[in-house]
Order: sequence, then C-alpha cells, then structure tokens
Amino acid sequence: MPRPRPADELGRRFGHPVSVANDADMGARGEHAFGAARSLDDFLYIKASHGIGAGLVLAGRTYPGSTGISGEIGHTRLQDSTNLCRCGNRGCLETVVSITEVRKQLAHVLSSAGPETDPHSLPSLAEPAARPAAARVITDAGRTIGLVLADLVNCLNPAAIILGGELGAAGEPLVAGVRESVDRYAQPAGAHAVTVMASKLQQRAELLGAVATAMRQAPAAG
Ligand SMILES: [Zn+2]
Repeated sequence: MPRPRPADELGRRFGHPVSVANDADMGARGEHAFGAARSLDDFLYIKASHGIGAGLVLAGRTYPGSTGISGEIGHTRLQDSTNLCRCGNRGCLETVVSITEVRKQLAHVLSSAGPETDPHSLPSLAEPAARPAAARVITDAGRTIGLVLADLVNCLNPAAIILGGELGAAGEPLVAGVRESVDRYAQPAGAHAVTVMASKLQQRAELLGAVATAMRQAPAAG
C-alpha cells in the first residue's frame, strides 16, 4: 500500500492545491522575493534554529537536490566534537551550535543560574547579543557555522550568505563570526566574492517564501 502524501491529504481537506517544501528553501525564496537577496541569483540562506539547514539558490533557482534534502549542513561533522546527534552520528554541527545549545551557553554567561536553566525561558538572542560576554558566545557560534560555510563557498561560489532562523536574529555578532571563518578557510577569491549578512525578513522569511511560492503556483486571476 503506498504511503500517504501529506500534500495530497491537506489538499483534500482544504479543497485547494497544497505543496510541501523544506523550511530553509522557503526562507531562501522569501529573501529572494522580498528580502535581502532580491537582486541576487546565487546565494545561500541559512536557517539556524534547532536544526541548521541551508537553502541553496543557484542561477536564480532554489536547488532541492534529487530528493529534496539538499543543504542539510547541520549534520556536517566537526573535527573536535564527539557530541551524539539525533541522526546517530557524533560531532554534527547542530549538536554544537543549535539554538538550544547557544541558549544554554548564554544562560551560563548571563546569569548565575548556570547551564541547567531552562533554555526556553531565556529572552530572544537579539537582546543578549548587545552585551559583550554574550556577543562573544554568539560570535563563537558564528565561527563554528562558518567552518562549514567556508566549504560551501568553495563548492558553490555564492554572492551572499544570509543568516536566518532564531540564531540569525542575533545579528552582527553572528555575522562577524561567520565572516571570520569564511575569510580564514575559504579560497580567497570565493571569500572575497561573498557578502555575509543577517536575514532581512528574520522570523518571517519562511512564511514569506511560502507566500511567494503560492503566488507563483496559483493560476492567474481573472
Ligand atoms: Zn547529525
């Protein structure tokens, strides 16, 4: 018996056509249509939250890969980590710099409560990023993500890296860390060509990407 497809079931219940897509791809489309990448045809959108995914826009089109799972950079292995990941491997990027891990580190730095503080009760990253000690934690996270992004810069030669998701809301300290690692580890010509910036649409990027996709797929009115 064939497995049910969520898009078919939702379409049946809503009475309208439904498409299902990857969240990082939708963030990339949002930035492409309405945000920081409106004039760009080659860029990477990074959704850094509980997981870390990259939406790839190559030659003006999102690139989903053969089965829709391109850009799973959260499971790139880091040399100096042995943390167990939800995928079963050890040392994956997202075990070190997921939003949960970064918030634990911020709790340790910002309060006397220590790392056992409930990470969900902490403020958004935009506020603590203004304090030097917290900014250092976030810049370190950016450096770690930048290690992986430097390899993508070598492979894909993007014009921009746009940092989104909950961690992307930290803004400049995160951008500075990513920039540092890209400059250090990517080939100079590729590093020189790429601009690193925070998402313009922030938490709305994925939603607006879905809006852009629906507008493109909807039949012309009238
Ligand atoms: Zn993993």
